[in-house]
Amino acid sequence: MEFSETSKVVGPLLARQLYMMAKEYDNVIDFTIGDPDIPTDKAICQAACDAAMTGHTRYSANAGIPELRDAISKWMNQSRGTEYTANNIVTTIGATEALFIAYMALLNKGDEVIVLAPYWIQYENMAKFFGAKAVIVDKFTEGFEPDIQAIKEAITSKTKVIVINSPNNPSGWIYRDDTLQAIANLANEYGLFVFADECYEALTYTGKYQSIAQYCEKSHLVLFNSFSKAFAMTGWRVGYLAADEELVANTIKMHQNIAICASVPSQYAALEAITHADEYSSRVQKVFTNRRKVLLAELGKVQHIHFNAPDGTFYVFIDISETGMNSKDFTFSLLKEEHVAVIPGIAYGDAFDHYIRLAFTMNEDKITEGVKRLGRFINKIFKIQ
Ligand code: PLP
Repeated sequence: MEFSETSKVVGPLLARQLYMMAKEYDNVIDFTIGDPDIPTDKAICQAACDAAMTGHTRYSANAGIPELRDAISKWMNQSRGTEYTANNIVTTIGATEALFIAYMALLNKGDEVIVLAPYWIQYENMAKFFGAKAVIVDKFTEGFEPDIQAIKEAITSKTKVIVINSPNNPSGWIYRDDTLQAIANLANEYGLFVFADECYEALTYTGKYQSIAQYCEKSHLVLFNSFSKAFAMTGWRVGYLAADEELVANTIKMHQNIAICASVPSQYAALEAITHADEYSSRVQKVFTNRRKVLLAELGKVQHIHFNAPDGTFYVFIDISETGMNSKDFTFSLLKEEHVAVIPGIAYGDAFDHYIRLAFTMNEDKITEGVKRLGRFINKIFKIQ
C-alpha cells in the first residue's frame, strides 16, 4: 500500500514505544510518559456526570461551551494580565490539537519554525505535516537557559514562529524573565509569532511562573494550555489556545473540520476545574512537591550522573554521559536488566543523546525503588559493588 508523503515524514513516537515496551516486563517501574497516577478530583468527575445526566450529550459550539471559554479567559487575565474575552479562546482536544490547528492556520510549505531545545517532539513533527521545517536551537547560556544570540542567528526570511515551552518538558527548566523579554523583543522586531506552551505552569517548585504574554504583540501571540497536567486530567482530553480574534477565527475553521468540538462532558469537567483552579491544582502540585523531594534525595545517592533539580514540571532530565552509552542503548539495557523504563534523551533533540528523562508520576515508594535500580545499573557499568 502506498501511504502519503506526510505519513512518511514522521516515525512512531519513541516515548510511546518505550511506554508500550515497559508493559512487557514484570514488576516494572515506569518513568516514561507524563501521565500522573493521581485520580481526577471527584468533584470534577461529578461535574462531567451531572452534565451527561442533564442532557449535555450533544455537540457544543465549535470553540467550546461559552461558560468554559469565559472562565478560561478570566482566569488567564487574572494570572497573566492579558485582556482576553471568551472570543479569544478555543477549547480543543488537549493542547496537542490546539498546537495542530494553530500550525495549520499559519504555516505554509517551506516556512520555518524555531523550536527551543530540549523540546516536545510534536513541535517538530507537526511542522513537518504542513511541509514546514523546525529549526532547532540548542545553545544555552547556563543550564537550559536559551541563548538569545543563537535564536537571533536562526531567524531567516522564512521564519514564521518561535515555539517556547516553559516550564520545560523534558528539562523542568523555567526560563528567566529577561530571557522571555528578549525572545518577545526578537519576535516583535522580526514580526514573528510566539507560540508559548504553558501546560506545566501550575507545576512549579521554586517560584512564580512568568508568562511571555506580557511582552508580546498580542496579534502575534498564541498561548497553549491544558487541563491534563495541572488537574490530573490527561484522559479527559481538554486543552485550549488563547490568541487574538482573527487568529482564533482561523483556528476555529480548522478545528470544526477535524474535531467539531472537544468532548462536551469533558468541557463541563474542565469548567469545574477552572472555576476552582487554585484549589484543585494546588492539590496536584503538593503531591508532586513531595515526590520531587524524594526523587532528588534518591538521585543524589547515584554516582556518575548529573542533573538540575527541576524548577517545574514532573520530569527530571539526567546527564548520563559518564557511562559512555548513548541514550537508547542505556534505556533499553536499563529496561531489560532492571525493569526500569525511562525515555532516551534523543527523543527531545539530537543534542541530548547523553540524557534520559524520568517522569516522577508515581508514588514515593516506587520512585525510591526505581532510582535504586537505576543506581544499581550504573554501578554495574562501573563495576562498583
Ligand atoms: N505540551 C507539552 C510540553 C507536553 O508535554 C504535553 C504532553 O505531555 C502536551 C503539550 C500535550 O498535552 P495535552 O494532554 O493537553 O494534549
